[in-house]
Amino acid sequence: MPESLYPQLAEAMRRWRYTPAADVLQGRVILITGAGDGIGYAAAKTFAAFGANVVLLGRTQAKLEAVFDEISRTTKTDPTIVPCDLEHATPQHFDELNDSICAHYGRLDGLLHNASSLGLRVPFEHYDADVWRRVMRVNVDAAAELTRSLLPALRRSQDCSIVFTSSSVGRKARAYWGAYAVSKFAVEGLMQLLADELEHEKIRVNSINPGATRTTMRAAAYPGEDPSTVASPESRLDLYLYLLGPDSAGSSAGAFDARDWHYRQSSASGD
Ligand code: NDP
Repeated sequence: MPESLYPQLAEAMRRWRYTPAADVLQGRVILITGAGDGIGYAAAKTFAAFGANVVLLGRTQAKLEAVFDEISRTTKTDPTIVPCDLEHATPQHFDELNDSICAHYGRLDGLLHNASSLGLRVPFEHYDADVWRRVMRVNVDAAAELTRSLLPALRRSQDCSIVFTSSSVGRKARAYWGAYAVSKFAVEGLMQLLADELEHEKIRVNSINPGATRTTMRAAAYPGEDPSTVASPESRLDLYLYLLGPDSAGSSAGAFDARDWHYRQSSASGD
């Protein structure tokens, strides 16, 4: 990994003493949803820098093309872009994606569910019903349908990892966070369900709460906050690398928090 490009990630790795090999994701095929911006964008670039062939799924084609160009310029990996609005995609779209991944790469080794819709922060009784449905659709139903459709490609992997993205309010609800909080509780439930069902397969399933991270979503949720006081996406990625790489083999059903994760403790206890 070129440390000069990712100094904050290098700092996080020193802090948590997780030092993945430079080729820790070499040849792995990893699909990232919401890969055009924020944490997904940082994850895509970093996974490719560690050798992964990344499948970049997102809503805005121009953003995906920018990530694709950057990865193509800086690595020798084989990225693909998948323009897709999770609000409107159907199981048939996801089945076709599974087929095209199998045809192009032969398998899928990692699936990072990262895309998410924030919705409103208003009292429950004033929450708009259409917005509620859209948030649940993007954050829960689409993630479930995408996972189900991609299982054939995931089962072709010898060491497979599925990661869901949670939130603090998906583990302890907070007033006015509405559908977003409820959707993240559902994501944790989906993670646990799949981890249990897939226990005897070579597929591990975990969730990450990235914690406060400097992105567009964070700025929308906390408009009065000074962004320079919030951690960068890159500084969160050591845990993502661990969970999507071989070092986490055998670790499943964990609800991880990127802010206080410690590698040694984590590998011993699963959380
Ligand atoms: P951003 O809003 O910065 O990025 C989200 C990405 O998801 C964007 O690329 C966006 O696409 C994409 N996306 C949103 N809706 C859809 C959709 N319908 N179909 C396809 N793609 C979509 O978010 P963050 O990077 O901050 O968040 C990443 C994850 O981390 C989320 O799951 C979030 O809930 C979680 N999280 C973030 C925290 C934070 O402080 N940032 C804290 C706790 C959890 P486009 O660019 O086109 O809009």
